[in-house]
Amino acid sequence: MAFNKRSKIKLLLESSKIGKNTTIMGWVRTKRGNKNVSFIAVNDGSTIQNYQVVADPNVISEEVLKRITTGACIKATGEVVASQGAGQDSELIAQKIEVLGEADADKYPLQPKKHSMEFLRENAHLRMRTNTFGAVFRVRHALAFAVHQYFNDKGFFYIHTPIITASDAEGAGETFRVSTLDMKNPPLTEDGAVDYTKDFFERETNLTVSGQLEGELAAMALAEIYTFGPTFRAENSNTTRHLAEFWMIEPEMAFYDAEDNQDLAEDFLKYIISYAMEHCKADLEFLDKRAAEENAKKPTNERTELGLLDRLRFVVDHDFERISYTEAIEILKNSKPNKKKKFSYIIDEWGADLQSEHERFLVEKHFKKPVILTDYPKDIKAFYMKQNDDGKTVAAMDILFPGIGEIVGGSQREENMEKLTTRMDEMGISQEELYWYLDTRRFGATPHSGFGLGFERMVQFVTGMGNIRDVIAFPRTPGNAEF
Ligand code: ATP
Ligand code: MN
Repeated sequence: MAFNKRSKIKLLLESSKIGKNTTIMGWVRTKRGNKNVSFIAVNDGSTIQNYQVVADPNVISEEVLKRITTGACIKATGEVVASQGAGQDSELIAQKIEVLGEADADKYPLQPKKHSMEFLRENAHLRMRTNTFGAVFRVRHALAFAVHQYFNDKGFFYIHTPIITASDAEGAGETFRVSTLDMKNPPLTEDGAVDYTKDFFERETNLTVSGQLEGELAAMALAEIYTFGPTFRAENSNTTRHLAEFWMIEPEMAFYDAEDNQDLAEDFLKYIISYAMEHCKADLEFLDKRAAEENAKKPTNERTELGLLDRLRFVVDHDFERISYTEAIEILKNSKPNKKKKFSYIIDEWGADLQSEHERFLVEKHFKKPVILTDYPKDIKAFYMKQNDDGKTVAAMDILFPGIGEIVGGSQREENMEKLTTRMDEMGISQEELYWYLDTRRFGATPHSGFGLGFERMVQFVTGMGNIRDVIAFPRTPGNAEF
């Protein structure tokens, strides 16, 4: 007989099964009561809400009850009745309880109390059993689903770009090498360098930092595509917004100029946020309360004015502010923190790269809404971005979000072969190696654009989690690859 005959708690709460018999399975959060009755709160992951199982010691033996401790997994069968107590509409009067897996109360790390985020990160293999992480991962799922829903509805095709590549899309050099060579005794060339022609792929390879270049190839055939996959950056940045392994969504569209690109990005971001708000109500209400508690603990000047749900609603309901890099520099130059030398990096001239303190000033203090910053100096941006007529700037866009900073980076791509190759030469990027990329400009070039959304930064924004390590199940950061 099949084992998986159970009611999921989410569905049990939504449908009235009062008077019917059913079975639930899940993990015990708490057990309380007295010698006449036990109340067992069970969570099965389908929802943040626990379901109450009522156990009468005349029906459920002392021997079984004793084994029902926080963290244990149980199967409970009984009648669904209207609940006496507050907090739930119905509960289960147990006729039979089976302990599927015990959890030694002295050893189980998650006790029914508040644990620190650091402690939970060290116990990432169990932390999904807490309310906070259960909520975060259900929201993460909904956002991922919404990404596919959005693009599928618009007729975009999902392309799987390679994870192992021989190119470094950004030319930033922050890549993880992929090799099967014996590190202690690698084959050498005549002049003593490692001979990668003897390696698995007969050349140097690394984990991808972006699927963009391959995405462009697909867009030059299927017109509108997107990727959604893992990307890897060996950047040694120990921040609350950087991971060494993160997921990126990269749409790439033929026949889109910079403005079309901005319109798509804004519409897309609003769509996935709205989707989560509609489909994750209970989880977001929980996270909203959690964020409010965290906010209250912060020093006054670091507190956010809006709560989490208000912030999400605000972003969905308002147009993003669109300004050029040049306008942003003027605002920053004349800003209080710049004049009073409160920024760590003082903005004194055009051409400076913006640090996250500047991005956050623009979004959180000046405009108080998401900002699309466009037309950056070409010298601080990648080689493939379309060169503007002024000869100084490129048709780049970064989208900045409150509390996050940069969430999206994108641009119209340079489709003009001569301009593109001139820029590659200036920046020391090999035309020979990227011949396949240049073929899209050689054969049937057209204006096209795209952008990359860092998925974890979006999950951070929607869940209000302060640290990016807490929105991916098993974070990879410098010095940390546990689990
Ligand atoms: P940052 O300046 O924040 O390091 P970036 O300019 O390196 O970002 P891009 O190369 O444009 O970022 O990547 C596109 C998007 O991927 C970014 O807008 C961001 O949302 C996300 N992203 C970039 N690096 C990381 C990282 N190390 N961890 C998580 N997300 C990242
Ligand atoms: Mn970076």
